[in-house]
Amino acid sequence: MKLTILGCHSATPRTNTNPTSQVLEIKNHTFLIDCGEGTQVELRRNKVKFVRIKHIFISHLHGDHYFGLVGLISTFRLLTREADLHIYAPKGLKDIITLQMKLSESWTNYKLIFHELTSHTSELIFEDDKVEVYTIPLDHHIYTNGFLFKEKKGERKLDMNAVLNADIDIAYYRKLKQGFDVEDNNGNLVKNDTVTKPPNKPKSYAYCSDTAYNEALIPVIKDADILYHESTFLEKNEKLTIPTKHSTAKQAASIAKQANVKTLILGHYSTRYNDLNLFKEEASEIFEHVELAKDGKTFEF
Ligand SMILES: [Zn+2]
Repeated sequence: MKLTILGCHSATPRTNTNPTSQVLEIKNHTFLIDCGEGTQVELRRNKVKFVRIKHIFISHLHGDHYFGLVGLISTFRLLTREADLHIYAPKGLKDIITLQMKLSESWTNYKLIFHELTSHTSELIFEDDKVEVYTIPLDHHIYTNGFLFKEKKGERKLDMNAVLNADIDIAYYRKLKQGFDVEDNNGNLVKNDTVTKPPNKPKSYAYCSDTAYNEALIPVIKDADILYHESTFLEKNEKLTIPTKHSTAKQAASIAKQANVKTLILGHYSTRYNDLNLFKEEASEIFEHVELAKDGKTFEF
């Protein structure tokens, strides 16, 4: 899995900071997560191929999380895209985008498929043979979801030396990968675990922005490899988290600790702060493995 941060600041775009957007590369998919203003420029700067994006996940309808979307949809049209584009977003986004296209008489020449979200409990919204995506209901001013991206358990791996020694016909390799015992060329039973190795542990990425401190999300993100959790404020401004329904770095760290994730990535910083290291310092008092999101930074795991 490879995560590229295109933007990780809240509110307005500035000279050197962008509002929220990320690209997650997982099992041959290129998922775009949120699409703040400036996302197209950052996609180009980070050399992400537009044609690879087939699924876009929008957390909520505050502008700093989706104002780049109509521009991107329009660019796809100009690039004569043909592939379907799936958008997973709160109910309402379809109306917004459709109205813009209608009034500008610029309908897409590719299929635009909206998956409108309304559930207040975690639900499976995408699945293929290798990946699953679930919503993570968050606590914010308007209806908001984070997203949990999970690899599915892969097949067992052949231990080729053992397989060749056991004299097993190639026709059985598929069954071996699926975990079955097979017969060798002399009709003797070969136990699966003597010639195969377990698959790699499936990985997961939990994206949580924007949200107030919310322990209800802990069971959904439990044991995730990476948690991106918003930390709009530092502790000295904690009182601002109540009217705005955002979190502090310490609160994000507390969620990470309780959910037993491996690594916490902080982001969605208020533009009032210049020294982002303070976020890391505060969170590190509670949770050991803290990273700072930064526009243009990648995380591989
Ligand atoms: Zn918001």
